[in-house]
Amino acid sequence: MTKVLVVGAGVIGLSCAVRLAEAGHDVQVVARDLPTETTSSVAAALWYPYLAFPQERVTAWSAASYKEFADLAEIPETGIRVRRGSELLKDPQPDPWWSSAVPSFERLPAPPPPYADGWSFESPVIDMAVYLPWLHARLESLGATVTRHDLPALPDAPLIVNCSGLGARDLAADHSLTPVRGQVVVLEQFGLNEWWIDDNDPERLSYVVPRTHDIVVGGTAQHGDWNRDPDAGTAQTILARAERMVPALAGARVLRHKVGLRPARPTVRLDVERLGDRRIVHCYGHGGAGVTLSWGCATEVTNLITTTT
Ligand SMILES: Cc1cc2nc3c(=O)[nH]c(=O)nc-3n(C[C@H](O)[C@H](O)[C@H](O)COP(=O)(O)OP(=O)(O)OC[C@H]3O[C@@H](n4cnc5c(N)ncnc54)[C@H](O)[C@@H]3O)c2cc1C
Repeated sequence: MTKVLVVGAGVIGLSCAVRLAEAGHDVQVVARDLPTETTSSVAAALWYPYLAFPQERVTAWSAASYKEFADLAEIPETGIRVRRGSELLKDPQPDPWWSSAVPSFERLPAPPPPYADGWSFESPVIDMAVYLPWLHARLESLGATVTRHDLPALPDAPLIVNCSGLGARDLAADHSLTPVRGQVVVLEQFGLNEWWIDDNDPERLSYVVPRTHDIVVGGTAQHGDWNRDPDAGTAQTILARAERMVPALAGARVLRHKVGLRPARPTVRLDVERLGDRRIVHCYGHGGAGVTLSWGCATEVTNLITTTT
């Protein structure tokens, strides 16, 4: 049994910690923010590869996570449901690079006007308000601990898994990591079952993700913006655009406004750094797809540790 210290209690840290504990390792998690306070808790969260690179590794991690989420959706307490939805496009486009990761991918024969193209597939929707506490409890049931600690630097432990998200800018001195601000509006649920995405504008991604008790409507993708406060004007724009895509949203009651800073990087960092006898497995920079990549990355981190121990 190897002692592993995981830094970070977002979806990446918790998923890595669960996989490592399942593999028989002695796991401790330390984090400045506990699971429901993290960026991960703001995620919509739809399985959808977005703002994460490189394409080949992202497709493989996404496919692995898809299978895991589809299995976990059989357990109601996880807060996961597989729902059909559509991505709408203003111009005809080839299949997206990640389509092989989705079992039920199909082109839309007649996209609703004004859209010219689109595709539809079944995708896991992960209600993070339910899922993160479930993951936390699953981890503790495996004998691992989660402790709050704001670290000034990575600790001097023999084996660390660094899942600190945007925090790796300081902890790993990695300035290729930058925030991509995402603002969302949470509406009351009124019976919407399908999700919708309009990804035609890189600065103003629009999406509507129904969960059991509410609907997450987004959003923005503001590169380099550190502002964590919701903006009222932006919220109005988000709702107006979403209503053009899903007219049934008009008049739905607003429950909350939220902002999260996606940990964006030219490529996800998943590698081993050796410092003398110490090993640091870095796993951060998942951009707009940390939930989508979580189980695939957690399995790779665990394999790396198990095969190099
Ligand atoms: C509006 C919005 C919508 C999104 N929608 C989706 C979606 O639909 N699907 C999807 O897959 N993804 C989505 N994402 C992206 C997803 O939320 C992120 O990719 C994911 O949360 C990254 O997870 P993480 O665990 O790496 O980081 P985080 O959740 O940020 O967790 C980082 C952890 O590291 C800890 N940490 C950092 N610094 C320190 C330190 N110095 N000391 C101790 N601990 C530290 C933090 O406290 C925290 O516990 C969305 C993001 C936003 C903002």
